Amino acid sequence: MTRLSSFGAALLLGVVFATVLAAQRGPARDITNVAGDVYRARNGAWATIFYVTPGGIILGDPINTAFSTWLKEQLAQRFKVPVRYVVYSHSHFDHAEGGAVFADTATFVAHENMLRNMDGRYPHMPGDMLDRNDNGVIDPDEIDIPTKTRPGVCGWGPGFFTTWDHNKDGKVAPAELQRDIRRPDIVYSERMRLTLGGRVVDLMHPGLNHSDDATVMYFPAERVVFATEFLADALVTTNIRSLPSACGPYDGNPLSEWIKSYRAVEALDFDILAAGHGTGLFRKADVATTREFFQDLIAAVTAGVKEGKSLEDLEKTILLEKYKDWAQYERLRVYNIRSAYQNLKAYRQAFD
Ligand SMILES: [Zn+2]
Repeated sequence: MTRLSSFGAALLLGVVFATVLAAQRGPARDITNVAGDVYRARNGAWATIFYVTPGGIILGDPINTAFSTWLKEQLAQRFKVPVRYVVYSHSHFDHAEGGAVFADTATFVAHENMLRNMDGRYPHMPGDMLDRNDNGVIDPDEIDIPTKTRPGVCGWGPGFFTTWDHNKDGKVAPAELQRDIRRPDIVYSERMRLTLGGRVVDLMHPGLNHSDDATVMYFPAERVVFATEFLADALVTTNIRSLPSACGPYDGNPLSEWIKSYRAVEALDFDILAAGHGTGLFRKADVATTREFFQDLIAAVTAGVKEGKSLEDLEKTILLEKYKDWAQYERLRVYNIRSAYQNLKAYRQAFD
């Protein structure tokens, strides 16, 4: 089979094995086959990955306690082997909760920066949620400002404090936010190999991007990669051609690190990209497409600044026409120019 037709077969098998088990309330959940013994499990707009080996299961993100409880039952019924490893894609609360469900049989693995994000200080957060007043706890403004400025894209919804303010004091301490995140048992710095039941999964830290503690899972025998938001953020559904959310100058990490992250993934030998968001599966070429968007944006902003244009001028004149058919083009073009400008200025990469 050619790579293209094996990709098509994987998609078809995914459809055949899909078991939509939506609860009466709550997010739609399903399990689909990706390739070989690699499966994807979905919780609404969030997704994780798992690998079934004769020695047990290697699982990606637990996502949250309700999902993990459901998943544990599904895995026990279908595969009859325990989860031996849980691998965190990054430490953000909306992907990393719920691991305690698997703690009776699993070892937890993450990039070493996850320990910094769980040391009691304000952790790295998605969606421009920052410690704006530098008091070490999450205050209502720190959720409301990005949420109200960029509704449906950055921040969180009104349910943030209802969900995470466990002691109801009107603020969320890092320990409250992370109450349901199980700390990793093993951390690594650049790369790590997991072997189980004669099978192999390679873990790679690609660099700084949407988070500062990302892990990419690579399944070499199945030619599959699992990675979360830097490759496909929460706005992506079936098509990866979607303008980035561009929250808080690209999550406070230099664009050069984002590009490095894409290049690190592109250096892996694989066919299928299973992302942490989106209902579809993507291909290796999609990673290059996303990288090229960032490179074109950086080039346009840098050239405009060198011509002496103000940010306001850049927002009016950089049309990114090559990307006008991408999802979110109308809504997010200007924000991407603004974020790139602020990012490049903050890290002094383009303007010197
Ligand atoms: Zn995240």
